[in-house]
Parts: sequence; C-alpha cells; structure tokens
Amino acid sequence: MTTTTSPIQGLHHVTAISTSAQGNVDFYAGVLGLRFVKKTVNFDDPGTYHLYFGDELGRPGSAITFFPWENAYRGQVGTGQVSITHYSVPEGSLAFWRERLSSNGARLIAEEAIFGEDRLVAADPDGLLIALVATADDEREAWTTNEIAADVAIRGFHGATLSLRDGEGVAKILTELFGYEKLAEETARVGVVIRFAVPNGNAARFIDLHVGDELPQGVEGAGTVHHIAFSVPDRAAQKQVQEIIAKAGFHVTPQIDRDYFHAIYFRTPGGVLFEVATDEPGFTRDEEAHHLGEGLKLPTQHEPLRSRIEQVLPKLTLPGAAA
Ligand code: ZN
Repeated sequence: MTTTTSPIQGLHHVTAISTSAQGNVDFYAGVLGLRFVKKTVNFDDPGTYHLYFGDELGRPGSAITFFPWENAYRGQVGTGQVSITHYSVPEGSLAFWRERLSSNGARLIAEEAIFGEDRLVAADPDGLLIALVATADDEREAWTTNEIAADVAIRGFHGATLSLRDGEGVAKILTELFGYEKLAEETARVGVVIRFAVPNGNAARFIDLHVGDELPQGVEGAGTVHHIAFSVPDRAAQKQVQEIIAKAGFHVTPQIDRDYFHAIYFRTPGGVLFEVATDEPGFTRDEEAHHLGEGLKLPTQHEPLRSRIEQVLPKLTLPGAAA
C-alpha cells in the first residue's frame, strides 16, 4: 500500500525525559540559547512540569519538550529510541559550539561528518544526545540571546536519528505511509545509517535510521527521548494520516487535544513511539508572542488544583534573570 499524498511535513517536536527542570532550563535556554516557550504540566501527572524550548514561537520543527522527574532513573540511549536529536546551526559555527559546550561542562561525544555534513554530538546533563549540524541552506530565523548571535544560533531541528536492531518496519512507515524518500546510506562504526527525507518538507525533514544487531539496547528513563512527533497542518490532515496508519494495521490513538496542538500516537516496530501533531493552534494560544513561557499554564481540567500544583513544582530561574 503506497501513498504519495501524505500530508506529513517533517518533525513537529521531540519529547524527552529528564531529572531536573532547572537543569533543562539552564542547558536548553542557557547553554543552547533556545527560547523557553511554554511552562505547563504533564497532563497525566500534573505535579510535574512539561517544559518546551524552541524558536521564537516554538514553531513546528523547533520544539524540544521535557518531562522532568527529579528522581527518575537514568535511562540508556540505544535501540528502540530516538538516539540523537539533530539541530541545525550555521556553517562555520561548530568551533563556537565546541568551546561553548565544553566550557559549560557538556560532554562532547563526537565531531564527525555524515552524509556530507559536519556535526558535533554532545550529551545534555542527563545524557540525552544532541547533534549540532552545520547546514548552509537553512533560511529559518534563529532565536538569539546576549551570548548567542544570529551567525551561530540554532535555527531549529534538522532531523533525528532512530536506533533500531531492524530498520525495515520503520523504513516502510516513513516511505509508504509518511511520504519520505530514501536519500543515502553510510556505514557507521557499528551498523549502517540510512537517511530519509520528506520532499518539500519543513527544514526538519530528515530522519536517519541507525541499524545494527550490535547496537546497545535502549532503556527508557532520564536522558532518553520519550517520543518523536511529526507535523501535519491541521486536524483534517491528521485524520487522513490516522486512517493511513490504521489501514496499515497499527493501533493508533484517537485525536487528543494537547492544548497547543492535537496529537495521535502509535508504537512502531522496534519500539519507537511516533506522534503526529498539528501545527495549529500553537503556543500563542494562551500567551502573547512576547510573553511566551512566562506563566504557569494548566490544562482546564487541572486549573482547580492550581494553588496545590504551584506549591509542589520547583521554582525555575531563567538564564540572565536575577536569582
Ligand atoms: Zn508529543
């Protein structure tokens, strides 16, 4: 069953598990210079935060989100997971990032070239792997800070690497259900990496499948990605993808209102949880663009518990703010 009419546009967001909410703010808003665009709670566990970092508006293809559980066990990055989240940075900026990451205590994992692109792979304080990929043709406007100017700033996601023992099932989903095309294949230190891209997609249109029998088995926990979300324009397009997924035999959830987007989820062969999320309504739904991230936003069902929730959540200090 092949479709060439998938409305998937590339990545929407990546959601990961962490230990410290303040640690997320310090690293993603402070060290990486992303904008802290939304402070809300885990809808299923309102005593913990759900934090969003992205570009000026947290546009689809830029937003990384965290569930910080202060006592979470550390996971293991490996198969059945999104193993590396890729950010796009300007060409010539990797020296700046090498220096900035190491002077802020981030662990540098590799400096390498893959598919003709130079990249720096580093671990965040919980061990989550990110790659800063030097890209020449990314027209997106970056969010900048006092310490990170436009000539080096992150523009948003470039893509993601999924690690799998066997990549066939996910490759089929990408190409037959989501409209991706296989671009290239490279041998890695362990296994192979196969690159896919969605034609005419957003700037976060790349997915690499790192496939190998000997790759370490992933264990969910702090420092690992919980799920990866693909972007569709609206709920009608999402409905269309939901039908395509169901017809292919996967168990896909109903459309769920996540306040800032609508979501459907399904588990892919090998274990990676996929979400398909709408571009509407976005993070300006309940805060003006220049005030994003300032208030604690609660979903309607948890609003009656606001005072109790505010008591249990740790206070967060933004970079540059007076302590
Ligand atoms: Zn999500």
